[in-house]
Parts: sequence; structure tokens; C-alpha cells
Amino acid sequence: MSDKFLKFDNVKDMPLHYKPAHEIRRMIDNKELSAAELKQHIKDRISAVEPKLKAFLRFSKEAAIDNSDKNNFWNNIPVTLKDNIMTAGEITTAGSKILSNYTAVYDATVTKKLRESGAFIVGKANLDEFAMGSSTENSAFEKTANPWDVQYVPGGSSGGSAVAVASGMSYMSLGSDTGGSIRQPASFCGICGLKPTYGRVSRYGLIAYASSLDQIGPFTRDAVDMAYAMEAISGHDNNDSTSSAMPVDNYVEKVKNGIDVSKLKIGVPEEFFGGDGIDPEVLKCVENAIETYKKLGAKIVKISLPHTKYAIPVYYLVATAEASSNLARFDGIRYGYRAKDYTNLKTLYQKTRDEGFGPEVKRRIILGTYGLSSGYYDAYYKNAQKARTKMTEDFVNAFKNVDIILTPTSPTIPFKFGEKIDDPVTMYKSDIFTISVNLASIPGMSIPCGFVKNLPVGLQILGNYFEESKIIVAANEFQKQTDYHKTFPNL
Ligand code: GLN
Repeated sequence: MSDKFLKFDNVKDMPLHYKPAHEIRRMIDNKELSAAELKQHIKDRISAVEPKLKAFLRFSKEAAIDNSDKNNFWNNIPVTLKDNIMTAGEITTAGSKILSNYTAVYDATVTKKLRESGAFIVGKANLDEFAMGSSTENSAFEKTANPWDVQYVPGGSSGGSAVAVASGMSYMSLGSDTGGSIRQPASFCGICGLKPTYGRVSRYGLIAYASSLDQIGPFTRDAVDMAYAMEAISGHDNNDSTSSAMPVDNYVEKVKNGIDVSKLKIGVPEEFFGGDGIDPEVLKCVENAIETYKKLGAKIVKISLPHTKYAIPVYYLVATAEASSNLARFDGIRYGYRAKDYTNLKTLYQKTRDEGFGPEVKRRIILGTYGLSSGYYDAYYKNAQKARTKMTEDFVNAFKNVDIILTPTSPTIPFKFGEKIDDPVTMYKSDIFTISVNLASIPGMSIPCGFVKNLPVGLQILGNYFEESKIIVAANEFQKQTDYHKTFPNL
């Protein structure tokens, strides 16, 4: 094993910053650790590793955190929020110059829920501008490094949130996933990341990228912590009309009860296991993971999701169309940055948007506006919506026969800084396995399942609508057999 790795069989042997949140909870409850000691430890950890990783854009104002009276799992536990999630009274930028001076006027619903649970919000994490990207290189402010090797990107767009957990600066973080931005960085950083069913978690206070695809979800070190994270943030919200009224599942109880894997029927879609640009060594790790389930008695069935091939073009039409509309509000009048040298209202708009948005955001606004324009709407946007329906039907049909679906999360291991940034289409292909999941609105989770060239590989577990618990429980059964989630970067 490489000296880049730290591996532990037992949670008791792990350094405090790498223990899962459930072990920290147990230690606090048993008075083996105080909230103040925990806070100091995480502060020291941040001083030691943040300068080389740059996961954070800002740290929270000093909070009094000894909420010992609160009987909640996340009470006093350090957590991090992606900087497109609003925190009242604090700067929230979405990684963009256009919001660099914007102070949020209210808390996002997820922020409020975490505050109420007594969690200690460490700070706000770096991201690709407006969550557009797969490497966090599109941030207007800084580049976040992969903790397994700082020459590599952490994935994106929620790169900072993933790194905060993977490097021991937080025990849980929230990201947003529009086409893979939680699962792909989770895969690149060797941790767990879940995109819930569309509507399971309120989007109120999430700065919108593409509203029909965006969903907030957690990063954690293991499946048990994921169950606790989902219980903390899920549920209907009157402030988000697209949030679901379905009762929230008992994720924690279900993960603790476990399942008999021999009763599990697992679909393996042929479209995700071959083709250009897919690293055969990544596939090998995923095939080994499938083998692990098979050894436990799971029934593995080959399935087909025939419209997968349309995922990238469909996504880049739908997402950019919605983005072009959502980003119209950043005009220098209502929010954030305003250009200085303007002569009239039109040049104020033009200069503000020209100076405030980065190149990827501009590219997408132009593409989205084009796809929606009157002469092209039928050819592009409308056809994309039809293909989206077909892709959704693929999943609906598949889940008539299987409980979960297993695929790679990303076609490759992490890439180096600069490797793909000048070639947008190659960058877009990093999300080839995650994008269709957002288009179909189903839940999906990435969990660590191996290493290639000393860099992490992720296994993607997909479930039917609102069946997050099946995914989390299946992930936990895998983690009972493997130790990838107990392997950490030696920073
Ligand atoms: N990488 C994809 C994009 O650039 C997905 C981003 C996301 O999920 N926010 O749009």
C-alpha cells in the first residue's frame, strides 16, 4: 500500500478528524470528547491542510457551539456548505464574481435545518461558478486541490464540499447536483455523495443553476452517516413548491436493520460498461464491486437503458436553457456586483454581465438562449425534452425488475489541473454516467470502490424514486465487506 494512504480496520484507531460522524457522536455522548475539544481539533486540522487544498472560500463567524442540551445527531458536529447555499447575514457567492459582495438575506431551508440540529457550520466551500463544471476550476476565486494528490482536480462542481470531508476538515458537507456535481467529486475524492430524488430536499435558498435538475445532497465518509444526513435535510417545504409531500423515510433505522443481500436484485446496464473514453481500470474496480454483491447472494441481471447515448446533448440543452433564464436576474441592479463605467442602463447591464460572469457561464447563457430562440426551439429544446422523457422511461422500466442499478460514477479517475479546461466537450463527458440520473429525477449515490494509480474510484448506486433508503442500505452492506471508506489520504 502506498505511503499516500492511511488505512484503519477499526474506527477507534482513526485520527479524530477521519472518524465517521457516528463515532464522534458516540464519543461526545459518552463524554470521551467535548464539543470544545472537537472544535479545536478541527480548527487545527484546517490550519494544517487548508493552505494546500483551498476547499473553503470563507469560514463562519465564530459561533458558540456548545449546544449540549440539544438531543440531535448533528449537534456540535462540524459541517460545511457549498457556497451556493444561502447563509443569512453572510456572503454567498456561487463561486462568481457577480455575487462576490452579496450578503444572503435569508437561510436556505437546509441551512436552517442544520442550524436547528445544532451542527457547527465551519464555512462555505469552493465550487465551479454557478455550479457549472466538473473540476472546480471554473471558480472565480481559487482552485481546490484533490487531497489524494494535489496536482489533480477534486471533481466538481461541489469540489470544495467534497474536499472538506475527504481531508478531515468536516464530517459532513452539502453540495448541489444538477448533472453529477455531488457524485462525481465524491468519486474523485474517495467519499460518499448522494443526489436525492428531485423534490426530496428543499431547494429554497439554493442559488439556481437549472431548476428542473438541481438537487441538494450530502457528502459523508460512510453510508451510516449518509442516513443521518438525509434525515436531517429531507422533507417537504412550503417555500419550495417542487418539494415532495411524501413522508421522509426512516433512513437510520433501515440502515441499522440492514438487509439480506441475497434478496436484492441488481441491474447492470450494458450502456455504462463500454465505449470511448472509459478507463478499463475503472471498469475493473466497478466489476469487482458487483462481484462483492454477487458473493453475498445478490441476483445480478443485465439491463439496457437504450437512450443513455442522448444524455450529454440533452442535458446541455435543458440545463443551459434553464440557466439562461435563471441567470437573467444578475443584472447589476438587484444583486451583487455592478460595473463602474457605464453610460446608460444598457451598458450597465452589458458591462456588469461581461465583467461579472466567467467564460463557462457566458458560454452556457449563449447556448441556452440559442436553444430557446424562436427559430430553433422545436429543433433543440423541444426535442431535448422528448428525449428526456425517453430516458426517464428507460429507468422506470428498469426499476420494474430490479431494486438498484450499479454503474461507474465517472468514466475516469481524477485528471490534472488544466488537462480538460480548454476543451469543454471533453470536460462535459466526465458526467456521462451521472447526468441521465438528474434528467430522470431519480436518486443516486457514489461510494468509494477502489483505487487506480493511487487515486479513488467511485461506484454509482441508483434507486427508484424516493428509494434513497435502498441505496444507502445497499451501500452500507458493501461497506461491511470492504475498507475503501476506511482509507484516507495521508496529508
Ligand atoms: N458538470 C456538469 C455541468 O457542468 C454538472 C454540474 C452540476 O451537477 N452542477 O453542468
